[in-house]
Amino acid sequence: MSDEALAIGIDVGGTGIAIGLIDSSGSILAREEFPTRCPGGFDESIARIIKVCRRLVAGRAGARGIGVGCPGPLDLAAGVVLNPFTMDWQGRNLVQPIHEAMGMTVILENDADAALIGEVACGAGNGVDKIVMLTFGTGVGGAVMIDGVVVRGAADEHPEIGHLFAVGDGPKCYCGIDGCLEIVASGEALKRRAAELHLQGAGEVFAAAERGEPGAVEVISQIQQACRMTAATLIRVYCPRRIVLGGGIMEHQYEMYAAPMREVIAGMTMLPPCGVEVAKAMLGNDAGMIGAAMRVLQQRS
Ligand SMILES: [Zn+2]
Repeated sequence: MSDEALAIGIDVGGTGIAIGLIDSSGSILAREEFPTRCPGGFDESIARIIKVCRRLVAGRAGARGIGVGCPGPLDLAAGVVLNPFTMDWQGRNLVQPIHEAMGMTVILENDADAALIGEVACGAGNGVDKIVMLTFGTGVGGAVMIDGVVVRGAADEHPEIGHLFAVGDGPKCYCGIDGCLEIVASGEALKRRAAELHLQGAGEVFAAAERGEPGAVEVISQIQQACRMTAATLIRVYCPRRIVLGGGIMEHQYEMYAAPMREVIAGMTMLPPCGVEVAKAMLGNDAGMIGAAMRVLQQRS
């Protein structure tokens, strides 16, 4: 009766899997992590996930279910991974074996959507129900929530706002839109531009731009143009109250990306009277794990 509602959140990343026991306020009561790629492939990864889940709930009542955030594309209804890019799990059912072993509800969610759900539940989106999040890491992920509901399209695909058109004459992207945000402003893009400029990685590009070196200044100026265009497009399409920026790059370069967004917002008319805020994500790498658990805890039976 007094058992507190708990859920397990699983965040499947390209390199690691994080699993946590989460309470209804979003606090992490216990957590474990291990590499995504196990020698025994998908089956071993699933066996390890199940083992950790059992350990986390051992001796505790109140666990309501398990949420799994995973890089898409996914077949959410069937629980199947369709993603051919990040892991070797394409075509494998992620939900069924965990459900059978644990005897609990298991919900699959796109990792970017899970991160946004986490930030809204107890991070930079708390109290906001019309909100967009961009995650700048190796690639650029994104998610949209309107009236507290994650926006999904045909076949449950989510809007790939990390691949919105951003700059004219931009480089080619695998998404089919040349000059999209990711091909200009992601970690991978920065790495490529750093190599072209004979610099050691993304951090050096920002440092060289600060020293006024023309090649690096041009790279940053293109990123900032992409940020302006993306913020303007997101605002026109979704009319959000807040844009949250997360991902590894934001830990050091948040202002570099946020300032041009605020700048374009300041010049825009036809905005809602409350305005549009830009905010830094607060939950870091835990957002996806917390959000996946929240998907379970927020479910109405
Ligand atoms: Zn793209």
